Amino acid sequence: MNYSRVNINAENIASAVYDAIGSLEPSIYELLVWMEDNFGIRIKVNSGNSQGFHMISGLAGLEYYDPSINAYRIWYRNSDCEYRQNFTIVHEIAHILRNSPKTFGFSDGDIYNKDEEERFCNRFSAAFLMPKDLFIEKWNAAGKDITFKKVRMTSIFKVSGEAVYYRARELKLI
Ligand SMILES: [Zn+2]
Repeated sequence: MNYSRVNINAENIASAVYDAIGSLEPSIYELLVWMEDNFGIRIKVNSGNSQGFHMISGLAGLEYYDPSINAYRIWYRNSDCEYRQNFTIVHEIAHILRNSPKTFGFSDGDIYNKDEEERFCNRFSAAFLMPKDLFIEKWNAAGKDITFKKVRMTSIFKVSGEAVYYRARELKLI
């Protein structure tokens, strides 16, 4: 497995998606609209409770094509906090992006197995929700105190403290 290559690929794809959308601020809504327009698909996002698939699988989210409504379905767990739900939804969108039969010109043949796909989806989610340049800019503007910086980033990007920490490390800010 080549972790760094998967990470770089996820970063590049998130950046290409931003260019295609023509936006600088993370918006899951804009990402969904762009996915639907670009791939000619429909995506339904729903939340579920601890019954059903969540209870059986223990998954935070799930994505699949539902032929009965001719659309992809994304499920996230409504017991999770909003910030975790955001990460889950973009992770599931990344699966659709990755597996779409219609190429966007950036599919990566290096991602052979499920583990690498999961990693890709996590890294894409981080790179989309915390776009590199914007993250670095806000990080540098948030004073000197690391704890304060992390709290600021959490509220700006609406992701968990853990996700912020990982992103800051990935971008070599800490
Ligand atoms: Zn996944």
